[in-house]
Amino acid sequence: MRCANAVPLAPLTTLHLGGAAAEYVRLTDADDLGSALAPADPESPPAILLAGGSNIVVPDAGVAGRVVHLATTGVVMRHEGESVAVTAAAGESWDDLVTACVAQGLAGIETLTGIPGSVGATPYQNVGAYGREVAEVIARVRVHDRVAGTAVTLAGDDCDFGYRTSRFRRDPGRFVITEVTFHLHRTDQALPVRYPALAGTLGCAPGARPPLPEVVAAVRHLRRERGMLLDPADPDTRSVGSFFVNPVVAAANLPAAAPRWPVDDRPGAGGGRVKTSAAWLIENAGIPRGFTTPAAPGVRVSTKHTLALVNVDGTTSALLALAAFITASVRTAFGIDLDVEPRILT
Ligand SMILES: Cc1cc2nc3c(=O)[nH]c(=O)nc-3n(C[C@H](O)[C@H](O)[C@H](O)COP(=O)(O)OP(=O)(O)OC[C@H]3O[C@@H](n4cnc5c(N)ncnc54)[C@H](O)[C@@H]3O)c2cc1C
Repeated sequence: MRCANAVPLAPLTTLHLGGAAAEYVRLTDADDLGSALAPADPESPPAILLAGGSNIVVPDAGVAGRVVHLATTGVVMRHEGESVAVTAAAGESWDDLVTACVAQGLAGIETLTGIPGSVGATPYQNVGAYGREVAEVIARVRVHDRVAGTAVTLAGDDCDFGYRTSRFRRDPGRFVITEVTFHLHRTDQALPVRYPALAGTLGCAPGARPPLPEVVAAVRHLRRERGMLLDPADPDTRSVGSFFVNPVVAAANLPAAAPRWPVDDRPGAGGGRVKTSAAWLIENAGIPRGFTTPAAPGVRVSTKHTLALVNVDGTTSALLALAAFITASVRTAFGIDLDVEPRILT
């Protein structure tokens, strides 16, 4: 394990923004985790974890402490009757894992094709797309607990998964996810299609189970149309994907025309609350696709999707100024505070 100094982080992120890490360690062996997390100077801030860099915003000034770049590899598939337990190291590419599973006729993560980044980050924010969340197929997560200094295996039910969140995201300094095990189904058919736009693209009814490769192709087609499939030739993909999450609000506080979906309405779970579309709120606050402002030079809203903020040739401070402008516009128009999806390092 080698530690380097003053390593530029922008090329390691999908935004291509931010300064350098004072100390940088690329971790390829999970056994080195303990020493990798310990900076040379015990007074320096705790090490920050970086994996695929697709949901992180690095400050222009860089990171004063150590950045540990998770690059561990390894995938094991264990067949258990009709079910298959797929265990992958944190540093594996998520999209490559989805492709490999689909090629083997394993269903459960096909609608999550095309999400950039690593396997280990998927439980962190419970990645989701096209009607499914990764939490639905996570059997267990192996973590290094930085407080206790020990390795622990957590069952999926112990990860406190919620919409784009988990216990890992709620307590970002505590756990390093080293390995994730997914329970997938051995079948050539996708799990039932839930997302209406996906069903429309596939030409099937919601609930249908088209062949796995057809679902993957349809999702990738939709993602490409929305600038959500990484492509160096598409400037709209220099982003972190959605910058804002869909807010959950009291239904009574929402304009009648705003889209809404029911959330957990069990007794005591906050009845009367609905999830609404952050993209609708932004557009109806007067911010269209492709929006720019002189207050945020070099960055803009994606020309394909209002939720994505794109770096053309700007800076992190410009990106955060654009985000603040959008947040303030939505607050003024609707009295709703938007929450940010990526981790913003300070
Ligand atoms: C074009 C584009 C499209 C996207 N589409 C989607 C989408 O459809 N759905 C969706 O949910 N997300 C989407 N994202 C966001 C992003 O791809 C996911 O959040 C992804 O899981 C981030 O993985 P990463 O390895 O790049 O994490 P990083 O950006 O490297 O890190 C993100 C956060 O996770 C932490 N972290 C990373 N690895 C670990 C680990 N092993 N243990 C503990 N903490 C860790 C980091 O410290 C950081 O706080 C998209 C992003 C882009 C750029």
